[in-house]
Formats: sequence, C-alpha cells, structure tokens
Amino acid sequence: MGERIDYADGRWVVPDHPIIPFIEGDGTGPDIWRAARRVFDAALAKASGKKRRVEWLEVLAGEKAFKATGHWLPDATLDQIRAHRVAIKGPLTTPVGGGIRSLNVTLRQTLDLYACIRPVRYFDGVPSPMREPQRLDVVIFRENIEDVYSGVEYRAGSAEADAVIAFLSERFGAKIRPGSAIGIKPMSKFGSQRLVVKAIQYALRTRRASVTLVHKGNIMKFTEGGFREWGYEVARERFGGRTVPEADAAGGSHDAAKVIIKDRITDAMFAQLVLRPDEYSVIAAPNLNGDLLSDAAAAQVGGLGLAPGGNVGDGYAVFEATHGTAPKYAGLDKVNPGSVILSGAMMFEELGWDDVASAIVRGLGEAIRSRRVTYDLARLMPDATEVSTSQFAECIIEHV
Ligand code: NAP
Repeated sequence: MGERIDYADGRWVVPDHPIIPFIEGDGTGPDIWRAARRVFDAALAKASGKKRRVEWLEVLAGEKAFKATGHWLPDATLDQIRAHRVAIKGPLTTPVGGGIRSLNVTLRQTLDLYACIRPVRYFDGVPSPMREPQRLDVVIFRENIEDVYSGVEYRAGSAEADAVIAFLSERFGAKIRPGSAIGIKPMSKFGSQRLVVKAIQYALRTRRASVTLVHKGNIMKFTEGGFREWGYEVARERFGGRTVPEADAAGGSHDAAKVIIKDRITDAMFAQLVLRPDEYSVIAAPNLNGDLLSDAAAAQVGGLGLAPGGNVGDGYAVFEATHGTAPKYAGLDKVNPGSVILSGAMMFEELGWDDVASAIVRGLGEAIRSRRVTYDLARLMPDATEVSTSQFAECIIEHV
C-alpha cells in the first residue's frame, strides 16, 4: 500500500512507498511517459532492491481530461496533486482561444510553485555547437510567479492602459508615449528572497561552489537591483556562516566549504556562460532573465530535447518535460523520452533519493554513449543507430 509524502519544518517526509500522481500528457506524452515509468521502476529496483518503490497514480489533465470530464484541468486533479504534494507530468496542449489559461501556468500559480529549476549539463556524445560543452554544468533557479510574467498587462489604446498612463503622468510626471501598451513588472523582497533561499539550500546540499544572482540592476534599479540586494541580504542573514560574498572570497583565502555568492548583469552572464562556463554552478534569476538563460544554456549543451525541469514551492512540486507535445509524432513510439526521464531524476533528487537519481542519469548517459538513440539525436550523431522510444528506454534500463 502506498502512502502520502508529507512536508514538515521545510523538509519532505518521504515514505518507502510514496504515491506519486502523474499526468501522462497529450500528443507524444503517453509514448514518453510509458518509457519513463519503466526506467523509473528499474532504477528504483536497482538502487534499493525491493525496499523502495513508487505507487504511480494517474490524474487527468489536457485533452484526455477534456474528453473524459469536459474540463481541461479538473478540480479532482488539483486536489490529488495537493494531497500527494509531488507530481510529474508530460507535455500538455495549450488550448487555443476560448480564454482558457495555460494549464502549466494554472498549476504553477494554484500551488504557488515559485521556483522553476532547470539543470543544464552535457551528456557525452550529444552534438553541441560548443568546443567544450562539458564545461557547462549549472542549475538555474528561475523565479516563477512575479516580474513581467505576472500577467498584469494592458493592450495599447485600452481604457486600462490609458488610465495607467494618465495616472503615472499626472501623479508622478512619468513620460510615457500616449497610446502605449503597458506591462507591469512587480518584484517583491518576499518573492525574490524565497527563490534565492531555495538556490542557496540546493548549493549547500549538493556541495556546489557558488550561487550567482543574475539581474539587470544597472538599468532597473528597484526591481532587478532589488533582487540583487535582497539576495545578498538573505544570504548574509540566513546563511551567514555558510556563505561568503565574492568580494570577500577574492584570492581563495575563504573556507572552501562556504558557498560563494556572486552577482552578474544579465547580458554579461550570457557571455560568461559561453566563455567561462565552469565558473558557475547555481544561478538564481528573476522570471524573465531565468527564462532566457535556461534555453540559451540548454542550447549550448545540445538543445532542449533532453532538458528537464521542475516547478517547486514550499511543500509542493511538479516535475515536467520542458518540450511540447510534438503532436505529429503522437503514438509512433518515436520521440526522445530523455526530458521527462531526467525530470524524474530531478524529482527523486528533490525527495532525497539521490541513489535513484544517479542511477537514472548514469543509465541515460551510457545509452547515449552507446549511440543507440532516438531520431532527434541519431540525425545529428555520426554512426548512431536510430531506435524507438521504447527501445531507448530499454537501452537506459540496461545501464541503470
Ligand atoms: P514541441 O511540441 O516541443 O515540438 C517542436 C519540435 O521539437 C518537434 O516537432 C520536434 O522536432 C521537437 N521535439 C519536441 N519534443 C521532442 C521529443 N520528445 N523528442 C524529439 N524531438 C522533440 O513544440 P510545439 O510544436 O511548439 O508545441 C506543440 C504543443 O505543445 C502546443 O500545444 C504547445 O502549447 C504545447 N507545449 C506544451 C509545453 C508543456 O506542457 N510544458 C511546452 C511547450 C509547448 P522535429 O520536428 O525537428 O522532429
């Protein structure tokens, strides 16, 4: 019998047989989920014998939910995820028109999953545009709720936009061209600091050398500049004994067990990731910066096909493939299940089952090294043999 995962005093309490809800996803979702689940079960068996296993619980969302219930994201699904706290999902179709919000955004906002976590690392053999792609190994923590993505935006010429323009110019003398579209960029100390705290906790737990705050505070002094200032502040106040600001760590005289806190202006950070990637390990960024950096970094190590992701809050987490539903390949047993498989590895790592996570990552790495890969990698790798989604899973399982 499975049991629920709990959360107490800022930590997951994980039974040996946790119930974990999954959303299979639309399009190619069922193909990749089927493959991923077999890999997870094999890695669990390998790492823990019969001691630990997951009871997977299907919950509906997307097209499958709409067909069965008439709702894209039924309340029952949200209730189950809330009750079980940690879930994993395949990609979902975003219904076009009809005023339906993205299901992914709804999940994030309803469960307050404020940290979007994207590890970016290289797997030997994957074609990359870089000469030394293995030098990049970062985990990006992107704030997920605030900033220009918070949804406070008004169309050019709308009554709302005009009213905001009139208010700002009459009250504060702001100079805004009449008829402009308006977007608001709210960034709070609370929202910024809880994200930076997650990044520092992760760096301490996984013994990563530094946390870099990425911001455009030279231009946006109070929002992005606030992010930088609040980040250093919370590092000092909550983790003073275990972190050290870069300025005090110059010359390498600091205690090596301490995590170095640094900051970089966003544009410089893009250049740094290309030129000196090995100087960075954990990155904490506001929503927009983090979004752009995640995909750019993923491209450096060979694209988005393998990039996993997790959306994590306090006591709730949903892990997901970062690509879409690739509908033209649905049911063909063709696409790469790597993204959802690595998202599962992230999930096990978050729950403290590092041995299971390592087994999965090792299996995937070896499968790629053996050059038996799905079409997307096979078309770019000389001498590779193209295999189906299920055969690729088989190959990973051989190596977990
Ligand atoms: P997409 O589904 O990511 O597909 C774009 C292309 O990326 C595919 O045609 C394929 O390239 C490649 N690709 C994607 N997943 C792959 C995989 N697992 N293995 C190998 N190649 C893969 O993006 P889209 O066509 O823009 O979006 C389709 C639907 O997905 C939309 O409804 C969108 O809203 C939704 N979506 C959902 C999420 C999510 O749930 N997180 C994220 C993004 C998009 P080739 O054609 O070159 O083979």
